[in-house]
Amino acid sequence: MSARTVLSLVTAVTALTLVTTGCTSTKTAGSGGTEITLVTEGKLTTCTHLPYEPFQFRKGSEVVGFDVDIVDLVAKELKVTQEVVDTPFEGIQTGEDLNAGKCDLAAAGMTITPVREENLDFSGPYFDATQALIAKKGSPYTSLASLKGKKLGVQQGTTGETYAKKNGAGVETVQFEDVALLLTAVKTGQVDAAVNDNGVLFEYVRKNADLAVTTEFETGEKYGIGVRSGNTALRKEIDKVIKAARSDGRYDALYQKWFPAAPKK
Ligand code: GLN
Repeated sequence: MSARTVLSLVTAVTALTLVTTGCTSTKTAGSGGTEITLVTEGKLTTCTHLPYEPFQFRKGSEVVGFDVDIVDLVAKELKVTQEVVDTPFEGIQTGEDLNAGKCDLAAAGMTITPVREENLDFSGPYFDATQALIAKKGSPYTSLASLKGKKLGVQQGTTGETYAKKNGAGVETVQFEDVALLLTAVKTGQVDAAVNDNGVLFEYVRKNADLAVTTEFETGEKYGIGVRSGNTALRKEIDKVIKAARSDGRYDALYQKWFPAAPKK
């Protein structure tokens, strides 16, 4: 038996345990009459990793952002309130948090990838993104090739880290746990540049004129909302809400709200 088989067996056992213990959880009627089981009664619990502005970040005592608003639409449909849990990205993208019942869903500017799809289920895509490079304004770092022998900041466990390691031959990658630490490192010159998702970097340079987005890499990523593998009832509910919001203008209104500088879609 390969190590991989053992791992998926462990996952299957964890999932089974959850189904059994799930009996004590609340059952909420989905709008299609299907039963959706939530980890905490009356709440739609979201796992995310803060900060990831403008998708999720703290504003005073509240967590706000594009993803938060999208999940609020789902919560409203289920007639519950959203509760956000801030947790490291690693546990989110490996499906561990969902399997452990820490949350019902994960909304974390998370790219749908084949590897992640083995460990959790994704809603349909709700946002397009691509990797991009950020550096001090006027710096010569406009490509990975230009960073040979230089320090490139990456965020742990992200598609940006994977991209930089795969395509940045001779570039020294330096890992950071979250995007706030990563961007501060660029600002203070601890690293020469950093890779991360374009939406987040454009938001940062809008507020930090000393930095610039020097290139985008056209990785063609799509964000999805994660649910525990096999939680089809909740996944379908999310898809239904996103589809409705796209067609009735609520999605566009949120896009305008959180990406005011983006060209009109
Ligand atoms: N979209 C990237 C990924 O999925 C970054 C997500 C994040 O840092 N929250 O890896």
